Amino acid sequence: MFACPNCGGNLKFHIPSQQLACEYCQSQFDPYSFDHKEKDAQEMKEFEVTVFSCPQCGGEILSTDTTAAGFCSFCGASTILYSRISHELRPEYIIPFQQTKEDCKKSYAARMKKAIFAPKELRDEKCIDGFRGIYMPYWAFYMTQDQHVSMEGKKSHRRGDYIITDHYDLDCDLHAYYKGLSYDASSSFSDEISQAIAPYDVKGMKAFTPAYLSGFYADTADIEPRFYETDARNEAFETSRRQLTGHGAFAGYSPTIKRSADPSYDSLGTTTQEIDRTMFPVWFLSYRKGDRVAYATVNGQTGKVVNDLPVDPKRYLFGSLLLAIPLFILFNLLFTMKPTSLVTITTAISVISLILFAIESGKLKRKENGLDDKGLLASKKVQRTQVQAEKGGSAGYISSIIAIVISGLILVTQPVSDIFYYGAAILSLIAVGVCISRILRSHNLLATRRLPQFDYQGGDDRA
Ligand SMILES: [Zn+2]
Ligand SMILES: [Zn+2]
Repeated sequence: MFACPNCGGNLKFHIPSQQLACEYCQSQFDPYSFDHKEKDAQEMKEFEVTVFSCPQCGGEILSTDTTAAGFCSFCGASTILYSRISHELRPEYIIPFQQTKEDCKKSYAARMKKAIFAPKELRDEKCIDGFRGIYMPYWAFYMTQDQHVSMEGKKSHRRGDYIITDHYDLDCDLHAYYKGLSYDASSSFSDEISQAIAPYDVKGMKAFTPAYLSGFYADTADIEPRFYETDARNEAFETSRRQLTGHGAFAGYSPTIKRSADPSYDSLGTTTQEIDRTMFPVWFLSYRKGDRVAYATVNGQTGKVVNDLPVDPKRYLFGSLLLAIPLFILFNLLFTMKPTSLVTITTAISVISLILFAIESGKLKRKENGLDDKGLLASKKVQRTQVQAEKGGSAGYISSIIAIVISGLILVTQPVSDIFYYGAAILSLIAVGVCISRILRSHNLLATRRLPQFDYQGGDDRA
């Protein structure tokens, strides 16, 4: 806690003025004036914080304040969090919050206006008030490329019956500097969200001082930067490659970069100069329903909104019916259908819904197992168990396959009575219905998360 030098009140970071402000006497102070210079070098490497941990999910969050928070941001439980004092490594830089909580709520509300199928709780004023300002730890990579680059170019033209291709050697000197390519350093903050709310403008980075955290929370950095170094190098390489090959000087030569002679460097000589600890601001909201949780996040610098959007099945059904009735009437007016073409169409629809269903199930499996999340894969603390989410999921497959096989048989054997055709069509439509309800369920599982379980294997792994 930072005490007001005038009255002893609690000082909190005030976003509009970017100063520490006293809640009682309204005085304002420079955040850096609380960083005591007389500390020795070791002390300056760390800062003191209170670590709050959730008894339900084990998630941990840091604060400079000692008063307990009433709920957990990760699993959404209202609970008394355990607290202990800890020393954390000091980040080098921080982007202080620029968007106030009011700005954040406004951006979020604007986004939710378009989400017509979302459960109404997500629009509820009380729920929205749960947005909490959290500084997320990021690794910022500084990369350089200083190298002579050789490229191959070619130009073709036609003369009579011949196409003549001229080959060129294109050369240039590349001097590139990438400042602060950033990757999220917390295993509890999913990579998918952190990538979606990017970019942050690194020009807004300030030297870190703990006073910036006052009134907010922070997450711990528990993923080492080496897990992201390849990504950072690839990003720098790709960006420069696009710039070079698309450069006006080489227009019309369709240049390609030659491979590097030295295998330890890429052909642009991408080199990591420095990796900094940083903290970036995120407004964070969790919405819990049963054993699933959905997150809404707002970039605390730019106001960009990224949120999980579950669909309320009742709203969806109602919306689809409203759309289906006029379509049905229109089709009836326009076409008279022969039984064979009816069965062909319904079979085609059930094949399509089967394919969609298979794709959705695949996505679900990848996400539930965290296969796309480097941070999760890198951290030992999250136990990944095989997904049981698709219990009864085979109903979608079985019903569709039965419907497709029977329809196929009828189309091949061509029975005389129309009843067979209508029967097959109804069967297909039932299968489509089963598939759609399964897809909806899959979507909701995809759009929400399992309750986080921060299990520790072999003791505390964050030294
Ligand atoms: Zn005061
Ligand atoms: Zn929790």
